[in-house]
Amino acid sequence: MHEKYFDNAATTPVDERVVSEMLPYLTDFPGNAASIHQYGRKVQAGIALARERVANLIGAEDPLQITFTSGATESNNWVLSNYQSISTSPFEHSSIRKVGIKRDLPLYTDNSQCDLLAHMWVNNEVGTIFDIPSQPGQKTLVDVTQGLAKLPFNVESHEYVSASAHKFYAPKGIGFLYQRDLDLSPYLIGGEQEFGRRGSTANVAGIIALGAAAALASEEMDERIAHATKLNSIFLETISSIPDVQINGSQPRSPYILSCSFQHIAGESILVELDQAGYCCSAGAACNSTSTEPSPVLLALGVKPDWIRGTIRVSFGKYNTEDSTIALGKEITRIVEKLRKFR
Ligand code: PMP
Repeated sequence: MHEKYFDNAATTPVDERVVSEMLPYLTDFPGNAASIHQYGRKVQAGIALARERVANLIGAEDPLQITFTSGATESNNWVLSNYQSISTSPFEHSSIRKVGIKRDLPLYTDNSQCDLLAHMWVNNEVGTIFDIPSQPGQKTLVDVTQGLAKLPFNVESHEYVSASAHKFYAPKGIGFLYQRDLDLSPYLIGGEQEFGRRGSTANVAGIIALGAAAALASEEMDERIAHATKLNSIFLETISSIPDVQINGSQPRSPYILSCSFQHIAGESILVELDQAGYCCSAGAACNSTSTEPSPVLLALGVKPDWIRGTIRVSFGKYNTEDSTIALGKEITRIVEKLRKFR
């Protein structure tokens, strides 16, 4: 199932093993994590295990450095809300870039002047893996949403780390923020949940699912990397006969994401035809799929407008197979040839 779904950077199907760990927390154990009676205690124990599993995945010293949030958008917004002077790159997700623009904060400038550097690890559109260019003594927020559970990661000396669970086979609407020194004031003001760090009743089943997905990722990381690397190279080989195609983004690149630009045609036309044939790919970031503006990331990379227009993103996951990847490559070859005839 889902072997023709090649939009895993947008979101992933939930792993059945994750579903079976979370389901009892919707039915048999429906307590509120803030309750002190037995229903509450039962879910507190589940949440404590999930916190440990997430801490293990990122190499955090103490599980209490993890706060569960609704996802990377909230985690990024939260950290930025605590800073006045922030440096970022033009490649950031909109949950960082747009906060900078809205608050008129310095963006992708000389980072030696800023309190905080907010930088992604793996780019969501082109897959480039960045070194985080922090200055000595500068605090860093690392958005690991597109790399976590896919490639080995360790928090090292970073202050803050944000991610969403739905990129690695858990449900949407749950994620976390790691804070090394627990120094942020809350962003969601309300009850005393999450040790007073985040108001709002805990999303218990989501948290359990995130923990389960984190544990599976720790166990299966090597296998997943090998699978994505294989599919990536099979795909590139299958489309190698297409003229005027370029792969965007510099190396090193995550094997899970490929951004391909086909000159002289519209990426959307490719996507529509692929969809009719049962394949799901995207133009770029799913959260900007309704925007008619060219991708700021591709613009910042210097991709020419005619190539940006013909861009599709293929993102691999564990449910794709070698056969479905070859079939996708062949289908794209056929569609590109057909569209170019009509231009
Ligand atoms: N950062 C990056 C790099 C992402 O790819 C995404 C999701 N596309 C986010 C942040 C935001 O994640 P969410 O929509 O789950 O909050």
